[in-house]
Amino acid sequence: MKKGCKFGTHRVIEPIGALPQAAQKISNNTEIMSNEILIDVQTLNIDSASFTQIKEVCNRDEKKMAEMIQNIVAERGKMQNPVTGSGGMLIGTVQKIGEDFIDKNLKVGDKIATLVSLSLTPLKIESIKKINISNDQVDLNAKAVLFESGIYAVLPKDIPEKLALAALDVAGAPAQVKKLVREGDTVCIIGGGGKSGVLCCYQAMKNVGESGKVIVIEYSEANAQRIRELGLAHTVIVLDATKPIDVYEKIDELTGGNLCDVVINNVNVPGTEMSSILITKDDGVVYFFSMATSFTKAALGAEGVGKDVNMIVGNGYTKGHADLTLDIIRESKTIRELFEKLYV
Ligand code: NAP
Repeated sequence: MKKGCKFGTHRVIEPIGALPQAAQKISNNTEIMSNEILIDVQTLNIDSASFTQIKEVCNRDEKKMAEMIQNIVAERGKMQNPVTGSGGMLIGTVQKIGEDFIDKNLKVGDKIATLVSLSLTPLKIESIKKINISNDQVDLNAKAVLFESGIYAVLPKDIPEKLALAALDVAGAPAQVKKLVREGDTVCIIGGGGKSGVLCCYQAMKNVGESGKVIVIEYSEANAQRIRELGLAHTVIVLDATKPIDVYEKIDELTGGNLCDVVINNVNVPGTEMSSILITKDDGVVYFFSMATSFTKAALGAEGVGKDVNMIVGNGYTKGHADLTLDIIRESKTIRELFEKLYV
């Protein structure tokens, strides 16, 4: 077996010189290099912004969605939505391990979840079994390859596989909240009723303590009610985050003009940058976890309204993110029950 580049550049077909995430097309050849592993894939968790876009274009027709996913993977060698640029992650069973793969504890037959994006993971689909329209998951027969730099988690025994898949997809979000939110902060979580939003709310409530405040902005009354019932925020409001002035006026009123120390954006639709920026205090932090975020809109928009805020690109990885997220599922019976209902 030959040894490949640890970042997977040996699989890039075009443009040469790019890394696999930025590449237009990569090789999904299932012959692995000595520092790669081959995975027999069971389920994909398509990134929510990507799945929402595919669902809309295909008018929620599951057959059309399956065709679209197959076409994207056939064309690119990876499941990277050409519109959103985003991927998702997968669970499967380790089928082959190259002799130079760095983790010597991993065994053939281990069930793992990849923690690197599908937008850079070589994938070959044999057949799609089921599109789960309500939870972004796709059951299929497929093979995937992980390079030496590709991180993953062995699936825990005490959490159902599909629940772990769903939670690990957004593991970066609550872990970043743990780093960013301080005691006494006023935090607003936009899209707080969604999957990553719920996990962020839980972590934010923990971090702000008795003296802080967690506000959730949700689109649907149903999701808002869910957060109220779960007690995962101090205040839950129903607003469309694509309407920045409505959002600004409401948060201005709720915070007595003080606005928020930290704003976490967890929505799955475009056009919510300015709501996030306007409700943040000067010198406050906006964490854009949403894959529908536009760098241009955020950067030029903040400048345009004279806001000196720190904007963080939502890196899906931070050290310990998988353990922190799985621990939330273990700690919170109510979140576990909700996720079991939605994702298992
Ligand atoms: P999700 O479960 O679909 O949640 C999205 C939430 O946003 C929903 O609660 C939704 O409310 C709400 N929302 C939609 N439109 C809204 C609007 N106009 N105003 C206010 N709220 C609105 O998605 P998720 O899986 O948590 O993912 C959230 C985001 O993170 C997505 O953009 C996804 O692509 C991104 N993501 C990023 C990374 C990363 O590494 N940075 C990794 C994974 C995912 P309704 O359900 O009521 O419409």
